[in-house]
Amino acid sequence: MRTIGLLAGMSWESSAIYYRRLNEMVRERLGGLHSAELLMRSVDFAPVAALQAEGDWDRLTGLMVAAARRLEAGGAQGIMICSNTMHRMADEVAASIDVPLLHIGDATATAVKAAGSRQPLLLGTRFTMEGDFYRARLRDRHGLEVLLPDSHGRALVDRVIYDELCLGRVTDASRAAYLDIVAQAKRDGADGVIFGCTEVGLLIGGIDLGVAAFDTAELHCAAGVDFMLS
Ligand code: GLU
Repeated sequence: MRTIGLLAGMSWESSAIYYRRLNEMVRERLGGLHSAELLMRSVDFAPVAALQAEGDWDRLTGLMVAAARRLEAGGAQGIMICSNTMHRMADEVAASIDVPLLHIGDATATAVKAAGSRQPLLLGTRFTMEGDFYRARLRDRHGLEVLLPDSHGRALVDRVIYDELCLGRVTDASRAAYLDIVAQAKRDGADGVIFGCTEVGLLIGGIDLGVAAFDTAELHCAAGVDFMLS
């Protein structure tokens, strides 16, 4: 089994899901007492979120590059960044290491296309929804165009991620607000929903949305296990 290095803690609420799901998927595949060979670098999310809000992406890139190199030096044979938002510096991280970076957008796009979804709604942080790094990856590498909530919806989705989900708060009011956004997107033609933030499954995972749901954390873990066992 190959060892994966996880760039985690962004937030730890979803990194805990990664840890559990990677181990469960290895056990499902290999049986018995098998579990995942993992290294984890879990950061303090407060300064990371502050740098995001300040727009200091150069500093964040430096942090992620250094952390990825340490994971590689520690024996990681592949790297996973456990956050969609922090894939903003995926190219720089990939270029700084000699092992593969397993990109969350690639894992997601592969599943979206396999399901036949052509116009999925993208829910994520404002950085993921509004920046080009994520949508460009889906568009240029996979030919996928996503729908976005309107500006009010994007602000709400982003606020719930940072002020609630990353703090472990899951509320019925926010779930209802997310479901309203999904319903509007379906009226606008969305034929799927990308949970483009690794915490979104905490809020609307396991609910029948009436269209296919693509949980990036789950899909990323499945791609990680494929890599570990290949
Ligand atoms: N986990 C998140 C994501 O997938 C948001 C937290 C972050 O900014 O890293 O984008």
